[in-house]
Amino acid sequence: MVTEQHIWEFLADVQDPEIPVISVLDLGVVRKVDLIDQQSVDVTVTPTYSGCPAMSAISIGIRMKLLSKGFKKINVIHQLSPAWSTDWMSESGKKRLQEYGIAPPQPQSHDGDLFSEDVHIECPRCHSVDTKLISQFGSTACKALYQCESCHEPFDYFKCHH
Ligand SMILES: [Zn+2]
Repeated sequence: MVTEQHIWEFLADVQDPEIPVISVLDLGVVRKVDLIDQQSVDVTVTPTYSGCPAMSAISIGIRMKLLSKGFKKINVIHQLSPAWSTDWMSESGKKRLQEYGIAPPQPQSHDGDLFSEDVHIECPRCHSVDTKLISQFGSTACKALYQCESCHEPFDYFKCHH
């Protein structure tokens, strides 16, 4: 007998396609799981931002995982409102992101002036806040490229937000 709790546990194994160290649950994109019967499930996800190319990969990842658990009818519903917030990302997800060398998103309150002079993104390697924005687009559209003035290493900053 599969319960909704099991579905959440299955989804904890679905990795973010761009950042394999965090799961789709750490990312906070899975909003709701509705178990219809033992072979059918609806999963509601909110994209990190509209048009994020990673979302189709996330939907496929969710589908593949649940297919492998014996589900036949998996409906991945995209819900755009309320909009995804970096606050939905788990603390352990943010920590693993940093260990992976990507600066985790700053608290929502700072997002308004993300690219102003006053906001200092911490270097994930040496933790210096003496960093500068190189490009608003890093390795993917979801990330901005920064460079650390202390250790001179470039790094990605995860900036998906609204
Ligand atoms: Zn550094």
